[in-house]
Amino acid sequence: MFWKEKQLNQMNSDEWESLCDRCGKCCSLKLHNEISNEIFDTSLVCKLFDVKKCSCKNYSERHQYVKDCIKLSDNNIRSISWLPNTCAYKLVSEGKDLYPWHHLNSGSYDTIHETGNSIISSEIKSESEVERNDYEDYITNKITSK
Ligand code: SF4
Ligand code: SF4
Repeated sequence: MFWKEKQLNQMNSDEWESLCDRCGKCCSLKLHNEISNEIFDTSLVCKLFDVKKCSCKNYSERHQYVKDCIKLSDNNIRSISWLPNTCAYKLVSEGKDLYPWHHLNSGSYDTIHETGNSIISSEIKSESEVERNDYEDYITNKITSK
């Protein structure tokens, strides 16, 4: 239970990577209204997201294809307002425990999907299938006002 004993900046790279619950919530498209400063979540996902596996198709080289994909770190985790409250990195940075459905607790990568805590259980569609002008039609909820 290293996540209870270490701060994010004390974790080695294997521990850091294993913390990701693979929910896919950070891979959904977020829309920012520059006038109201509100951020909205959508049911669209990044073009590199595998909607069947609920994971990035090319995680190690993703920045070659998606320049603005965020690389989470201990330095930026508290400043990303649109990260879901269930995000394991956010939970640990706030001194909270992981949920029972997290694979490090349950021992299975399936429990997050079985309990409906990943986006794979939702109606999701790749951004590459939708015209940019239609993105707003896929808004699901307001996440935050910046
Ligand atoms: S929201 Fe957090 S835990 Fe979920 S996939 Fe993204 S980085 Fe991993
Ligand atoms: S590049 Fe990969 S990790 Fe980044 S948002 Fe797209 S699918 Fe997610």
